[in-house]
Amino acid sequence: MRQTLVAGNWKLNGSLESIKQLVAGITAGAGDTGNTQIAVCPPFVYIPLVSNLLADSKVDVGSQDISDQEYGAFTGEVSGPMLKDFNCTYAIVGHSERRALYGEDDAFTARKFAAARKFGLIPILCVGETLEEREQGITEDVVARQLDAVIELEGIDAIGDAVIAYEPVWAIGTGKTASPQQAQDVHAFIRGKLAGLNPGVADKVQILYGGSVKGSNAEELFAMADIDGGLIGGASLDAGDFLAICKAG
Ligand code: 13P
Repeated sequence: MRQTLVAGNWKLNGSLESIKQLVAGITAGAGDTGNTQIAVCPPFVYIPLVSNLLADSKVDVGSQDISDQEYGAFTGEVSGPMLKDFNCTYAIVGHSERRALYGEDDAFTARKFAAARKFGLIPILCVGETLEEREQGITEDVVARQLDAVIELEGIDAIGDAVIAYEPVWAIGTGKTASPQQAQDVHAFIRGKLAGLNPGVADKVQILYGGSVKGSNAEELFAMADIDGGLIGGASLDAGDFLAICKAG
C-alpha cells in the first residue's frame, strides 16, 4: 500500500516573518496527520531556516527546482549537494511554471531529474497538459512525452525512486480543480504506462495530483485508487488549510 504524500509548493511567496509563522502553524498540527508523509518546498533562500525549524518534526523539506549542474560557472543556480547540505529530501523538477515561463523543456527537466537522483534527492517530476492540449484530446500524449524524456535518460527503474505529480496546467491557481474522475483517469494512464515497462515500479511510485487542491476537496481526490496525495500551491500557504489536506490522506 502506497503512503499518502502531501507536499506544499510555496512558489514565490513568504517573508522571514510569515514563513516562521507558517512553519509554527504546520508543526503545531503535524502530529495529528496520521501516516501522511508531509513536505514543504520553500523558496531557496528560506530552506536553511525552514530545515532548522522542522528538524525535530515529521515534515520534510524540498526545493522547488534544482540545477542540472553540480558546481562551476552557472550564475544563479543551486545544486543538489547544496540542497543536501540543508537536509532537503525532495526536489521538484519540471513544474509547469518552469516549463512555460522559463523555457525548461523535457530534456532539460530530465537532466534536472537525473541531478536530483545523483545527489540523493527524491525528484518530484511534474507532468500535465494545458487547456488547449486537453481540448485537442492529446492529454495522454503530452504526459507520455514528458515521462518518456526521463525514462529515456534515466531508465524505468529510476521512476521507482521518484514521485510523479500530475498537474493539469488549467487547474493550477485557477480554482478549477480537475474532478476526481478526470484526475484518476490520467493517474491510471500514467501507472498503466509504467506498468508496461516495470510493474513493480508502477505499483510503488507515488503519483500526486496538483491543481487547486484545498481542504474541502482533498478527501474525494485522495480517495481515488491511483491518487497518492497532492502537490499543493496556494492552500499550502495557510497552515490550517494545509493541515486539513494532510489529514485527508
Ligand atoms: P495551486 O494549488 O495554487 O493550484 O498550485 C498547484 C501547483 O502548481 C503546485 O505545484
